[in-house]
Amino acid sequence: MINIAAPVIGNEERKFINEVLDSKILASGKYVVEFEQSFAKYCGAKFGIANANGTTSLHTALLICGVKPGDKVVTTPFSFIATSNSILFCGAKPVFADIDPETFNIDPVELEKVLKREKNVKAVIIVHLYGLPCDMDAILRLKKKYKFKLIEDSCQAHGAEYKNKRVGSFSDASAFSFYATKNMMTGEGGITLTNNAKADKYARQVINHGRDGHSTFTVLGYNYRLTNLAAAIGIAQMKQLDDWTAKRIANADAYNEAFKSLGFIKTPVVPLNYRHVFHQYTIRVKASERGKFMQYLKDNGVGCGIYYDTVMYKQPYYKKLGYKSGICPNAEQAAKEVVSLPVHPSLYKTDVENIINAVKGYKK
Ligand SMILES: *Cc1c(COP(=O)(O)O)cnc(C)c1O
Repeated sequence: MINIAAPVIGNEERKFINEVLDSKILASGKYVVEFEQSFAKYCGAKFGIANANGTTSLHTALLICGVKPGDKVVTTPFSFIATSNSILFCGAKPVFADIDPETFNIDPVELEKVLKREKNVKAVIIVHLYGLPCDMDAILRLKKKYKFKLIEDSCQAHGAEYKNKRVGSFSDASAFSFYATKNMMTGEGGITLTNNAKADKYARQVINHGRDGHSTFTVLGYNYRLTNLAAAIGIAQMKQLDDWTAKRIANADAYNEAFKSLGFIKTPVVPLNYRHVFHQYTIRVKASERGKFMQYLKDNGVGCGIYYDTVMYKQPYYKKLGYKSGICPNAEQAAKEVVSLPVHPSLYKTDVENIINAVKGYKK
């Protein structure tokens, strides 16, 4: 079976881990500092605050944007649940805006409808889904007009670019995940980026019990710290990221070329001047066909996945909070039709060929 995801672990990861073990400094330490600085620089942001995972990175981003109980935060319903859960952690209310069915990302036209209807929106979390940047010109225009804090959930988009600028650098705060299956990983891990020095200081308190100095605690904080061990893996992974991304893009190009004449598949769209980093290579098939198609792929040794089969507001916990079906029809339709194929950098050329042949051999 060709797996949908596979972390790559090389000799440098082992070497740096051993250095950390030998140093006996396993919690916060110099590897964390080095990792923060190099990842922030890579993304074109001034400050990086490494922390436990992508979810804590989002929570920290919301807190440094001043999101408080009762505030409204607009986001897409077509993402991993952590995007909207992080809003709930703050006691704030997620408000959902529909997606563009072509890109799967939040539709600026739908976002503006929500901003007009809902007064006093404190913040907006956009998600660069599957590794494709959102329409940043349109979103930054709305930010200027409606004056909300902007957060980028970049958990799937390490190195993605919009008009030659890397994601994570467009907003008041952004969040990345280094979970084992992301474009680069530290096992579990995350980072919050910001360009604001005050926000940087507050974020460091948020992830460290609210600490200000050794034994003074001036704000409510958590233990969201990243370990030196995880950061050591991250430093090694960063050196490979550009090569891995190039492989993901090459694999996606091969699929696009091979599938373009197949009537039953809609291949992913990459608008001009966007750099899609293909965390997922996601196609659409007819809802009525999807189950059969995926079973056929599995029978032919091709692992595949659905990201995501339910919009967030239809999850049982959100239903309990009072959300009803039908808020975002484009997202609900996408949830019925998407299928992701393996696109990760550990695929062999023969894997890519086998995946292409399997898909082409599917007879409806
Ligand atoms: C992975 C992911 C998260 C959460 O990251 P974790 O490290 O798993 O906590 C949040 N948002 C999106 C879009 C993700 O893909």
